[in-house]
Amino acid sequence: MTDRASATRVIFLGGLGRSGTTLLERLLAELPGVVALGEVVHLWSRGVLAGEPCGCGAAFAACDFWRQVGRAAFGGWRPSVAERVLALRQRVDRTHRMGRIAHPDLAEYARAYRRVYEATGAPVVIDSSKHASLAHCLVAAGMDVRVVHVVRDPRAVAHSWRRTVERPEDGRPMTRWGPLRTSLHWTAQNAGLELLARQGARVTRVRYEDLVADPEPTLTALAGFLGLDVPGLPFLEGTTARLGPAHTASGNPMRFQVGGIRLRCDDSWRSGLPVRDRRLVTALTWPLRVRYGYREVAA
Ligand SMILES: [Zn+2]
Repeated sequence: MTDRASATRVIFLGGLGRSGTTLLERLLAELPGVVALGEVVHLWSRGVLAGEPCGCGAAFAACDFWRQVGRAAFGGWRPSVAERVLALRQRVDRTHRMGRIAHPDLAEYARAYRRVYEATGAPVVIDSSKHASLAHCLVAAGMDVRVVHVVRDPRAVAHSWRRTVERPEDGRPMTRWGPLRTSLHWTAQNAGLELLARQGARVTRVRYEDLVADPEPTLTALAGFLGLDVPGLPFLEGTTARLGPAHTASGNPMRFQVGGIRLRCDDSWRSGLPVRDRRLVTALTWPLRVRYGYREVAA
């Protein structure tokens, strides 16, 4: 199954949540011609159906950017469009289906995403949906997708999932996971993206720790892989980045942040993650943890 040629190139950010994908998306969106869309996988339920705010601060239905995208893609954001995509997602886009993705509904499901991407009119879009299963769907449907696989020390990821964080969208707490669950998801998502690379998809890997420690060389190398013509990174000054607003449909609370931000490695897990949890995560995330350079065995 091959897709027709598209003028829009898609950068898909993959990895487990709390690995720095939102930060990377915001930094890449500062490059000329690149537009960040946030987690398009959640656009249907959180944006179209629930009306949660866009990254620009406007309610989804009131955001001019998304209004125009909806009109161009589907003749408007009718709830039935979102409900159809969510029904297709249930059948096609599942973690346990990765690697045997062929399904009669795959083409229709991927077409909905392609319509959103193309309706932006941007030469390059970023979808930070993260889920490896969606990356498999888009690639299997023949779309021109370059996948950036973002990894982070699983102890730091587990520490982040334990924390209570309020969702700025509705004031409710974000989902929390224990260390066992985080370890299993960390392995499943990373293994899913490894599989995609082995199947010949264009996948490159970025470590969160390298991005925040050395943003300029990391972003320059990444832009090269993505085929982006980058004359310079004027929004970066050392480890400080200046971010403009982005019309992200869904994602981590950091998507609302604008202005100067200091990039620094959040390693609060070293003092904040209980030893028992640390040992559990260290053991359960082997061998991928070691493959990604997180060799330190925390005592
Ligand atoms: Zn907006």
